[in-house]
This record gives sequence, C-alpha cells and structure tokens, in this order.
Amino acid sequence: MPATCDICRQTMVDRGSCAKVSVTIRGRRFDPISYGSETHHAVREQFRYQHPDETPAQIQKRFDNFMFACGLGVYHKPEDTCRDCGVRIGGYHHRGCDTEECPKCHLQLIGCDCHKGEQ
Ligand SMILES: [Zn+2]
Ligand SMILES: [Zn+2]
Ligand SMILES: [Zn+2]
Repeated sequence: MPATCDICRQTMVDRGSCAKVSVTIRGRRFDPISYGSETHHAVREQFRYQHPDETPAQIQKRFDNFMFACGLGVYHKPEDTCRDCGVRIGGYHHRGCDTEECPKCHLQLIGCDCHKGEQ
C-alpha cells in the first residue's frame, strides 16, 4: 500500500497537488511553500541581482557557501515533479513530504524544531 496523505486523501503517487493547508506553528498560521518556490531558489536569483558584474561561476560559489551554511547541501534545480511526494512544480506538497520547506525557519519541515513541544 502506498502512503496516503491525510489532508487530501490522495495516494502520494497520484502526482496531483495537495490542498493548500496552512501550517500552524505555535499558534501562528503560515502559508505552505509550494514546490519550486523554496527560499533557496529565490536566494540564488537575489545573488544574481545583487552582484550583476560577477560571473555565473562566482555567483555559484556564493550560493554554494550559502547552501552549506544553511545545512542544505548541494543545490539541485527542482525536477518537474517532487522526488518524494510526486507533486508537480507549483503544487503543494503532501503531508509528510520530506522535501517540503518550513515556512517559518526555512529548513526541512518534517525535520525542523518549530513543532517541538506541540501536538
Ligand atoms: Zn513533495
Ligand atoms: Zn495531500
Ligand atoms: Zn521550522
């Protein structure tokens, strides 16, 4: 049996977007981050904008350092579909997907500390 998302009840292999359900962290509600719009993609664009005279290699170096400092490892362009829950670019990850970004701390949602001490 494939895992079933408890929000939209689709099996995770169906590849459709999940429902847009806000993430509640310590009483505050955050919009979920859709696949392909994770912060680190935006940061890359920002570096390019902030340092217009640097070569792509220099920008890449800057960005690699940023990814490393955040513990995000090596940058990968998003695939057409999420490698974990199968959602397409622009869709919302299914509950429990291990690539979803936490809208509060911007680390991995299922691995971050934001929910510690909560139900
Ligand atoms: Zn996903
Ligand atoms: Zn779902
Ligand atoms: Zn978090």
